[in-house]
Amino acid sequence: MKKNCVTLLLLLLLINPIFGQDKVEKLPNVVIILVDDLGYADVGFNGCKDISTPNIDKIATDGVKFTNAYVSYAVCGPSRAGLITGRYQDRFGFGRNPLLAPNDINQGLPLSEETLAEALSKKDYKSIAVGKWHLGANLKQYPTQRGFTEFFGFLSGGHNYFPEKLTLNDISDVRTQYGGYSTKILHNKKRIEIKKYLTEELTDAAVDFIKRNKDNPFFVYLAYNAPHTPLQATEKYLLRFKNIKNKKRRTYAAMVSSVDDGVGLVLEELKKLNIEENTIIYFLSDNGGPYLYNGSNNGELRDGKGSLYEGGIHVPFAMQWKGHIKPHVYTKPIISLDIFATSTALANVKPKNPIDGVNLIPFLTGQKNNSPHKYLYWRKFDQKAYAVRCDNGMKVVKYKSDDDKMFNLNKDIGEAKELEKNNSKDYRKLIKKYNSWQSLLIDPVFLGLRSNKEYSKKHPDRFKNVKSYINK
Ligand code: CA
Repeated sequence: MKKNCVTLLLLLLLINPIFGQDKVEKLPNVVIILVDDLGYADVGFNGCKDISTPNIDKIATDGVKFTNAYVSYAVCGPSRAGLITGRYQDRFGFGRNPLLAPNDINQGLPLSEETLAEALSKKDYKSIAVGKWHLGANLKQYPTQRGFTEFFGFLSGGHNYFPEKLTLNDISDVRTQYGGYSTKILHNKKRIEIKKYLTEELTDAAVDFIKRNKDNPFFVYLAYNAPHTPLQATEKYLLRFKNIKNKKRRTYAAMVSSVDDGVGLVLEELKKLNIEENTIIYFLSDNGGPYLYNGSNNGELRDGKGSLYEGGIHVPFAMQWKGHIKPHVYTKPIISLDIFATSTALANVKPKNPIDGVNLIPFLTGQKNNSPHKYLYWRKFDQKAYAVRCDNGMKVVKYKSDDDKMFNLNKDIGEAKELEKNNSKDYRKLIKKYNSWQSLLIDPVFLGLRSNKEYSKKHPDRFKNVKSYINK
């Protein structure tokens, strides 16, 4: 009798894995591909004609293309601080672009904040930050001190792309804010002599990490600095755009094309390792395109990087999770803060701090039909600028003018036709919501890039006795 029971149990295990360990699903891998200063209309999935981006487009066509996706700030640093914590960055005083100040622990992400890597590490995710960090250059802010298992990249807000331009050994050789653009690349705490164009090196590092971590849950934060200035591209990519006469646009296109190749290699590797369906991939830009500087194009959106009109904050955004989310276009407003919320929900991790993002999965599977966010908010502290939008399309924005202006984005995405505010219920509601949100925020806790000179005056030791990151 006992023998029969054992046989039956063995049979059950064979025919129905729910009785066996196989049923325990591996937690999904998370890949964030963040590009820097890419224009809204500079990807194929948003209608770009002169730059072909077949690999980036694949994420949108195999997954979700978001037509109303935002970032939480209009320039690099604060936008990244929001993304990596899932919180509006003004909650913790990250309302400015941080300066390169390696001796200053306060120039960067406050230690009270939890990064996505820290959150996922609670479920034993292995993680890598690849490329641009820009969340603090102090040793205590180093990516491997902020939850990442590995780091391959640089600390500054931008970087040179050609190996021969990386002339400074280390942060201890840097003497100016933009000296950070010329340091050698770091892998964890080792200095790497790169041989290829930087964008290709970043791709290789991400692919290599994925190969090494295929058997455990992983998180890749692939933060390409392209197509941020300086505009530098190799012949290999420039030759693809012989038809573009404008030199700036041509170099920009070449840089975007190199990123697209990189995205292709990442997708190919996930497929090869048969982990495509267990990997959620996000693709987005950290802010709108600064078209005057890098030749980007935000299409019909007004303004660009830095602005609280749509061109500064409304970004190209796509996401795929094959086998789980059906391909479709999603039109309701979402924000980069949702990446943290979605990823931690999938990993079943409870965030340490209250978060502002929303788990998008129930909205993308059709389980929920309402809006993930009724209202979204932006503030630029120094400029006394702000914006607030409702899911019904109404937006109030105050930027570089004495008066705030109201638009209906559903009819006027270019913010060209100012609406009458007086006696408007929408206007009153938006302002009320904004004021209530603003009461949660704090003033910036560090002086930013705009105060570069002032900061150096106040801190004459800014670049003195800087400790090297390198493990000797
Ligand atoms: Ca940027």
